Amino acid sequence: MAFTLPELGFAFDALEPNIDAKTMEIHHGKHHNGYTNKLNAAIEGTDLADKSIEDILTTLDMSNSGVRNNGGGFYNHSLFWKVINPEDRGRLSGPLLEAVNTAFGSKEAMIEEFSKAAKTRFGSGWAWLCVHDGGKVEVCSTPNQDNPLMPGVGCGGTPIMGLDVWEHAYYLNYQNRRPDYVTAFFNIVNWNEVEKRYEAKIG
Ligand code: MN
Repeated sequence: MAFTLPELGFAFDALEPNIDAKTMEIHHGKHHNGYTNKLNAAIEGTDLADKSIEDILTTLDMSNSGVRNNGGGFYNHSLFWKVINPEDRGRLSGPLLEAVNTAFGSKEAMIEEFSKAAKTRFGSGWAWLCVHDGGKVEVCSTPNQDNPLMPGVGCGGTPIMGLDVWEHAYYLNYQNRRPDYVTAFFNIVNWNEVEKRYEAKIG
């Protein structure tokens, strides 16, 4: 089964002024679509072709750069659109807030650590909030389209919130001002989605 580009789930201009419509249109329609098509080409006719994307990433041979880059790109963006979906954003609460308080002391301290990870990732990559078995949460970052599900990336657990810090994610509006884009991200996080993913993981 080939993978298909997921719907964005909202209008291109729904995140303005935090993320502009043109960036969203290109990011979803060109970049994410490209990762999807190249992932399909990379797995076609191999034993990966009938696996879920989670299975592909967790058991990945990291020397398989076609699947690493494009499988990561497919998964990471699919998560990202959900995490910035503007409908019913809610606020951080419940078991996830408790886990954040345990790990970081406060929501604000978690946001500070996540923002630092996003701002200091050299070149292209992602910042993540991950959950480990047992419910402990952690902030980390990965280069390029690597993902915490992949083996040996030094960033473990299941990602429940991710921020794309590739220049293609912000350059049209923010140019070199990545810190402003990172700040804007926290205006548009869908906490209900992040909480849903946390609770699905801890069961
Ligand atoms: Mn991207």
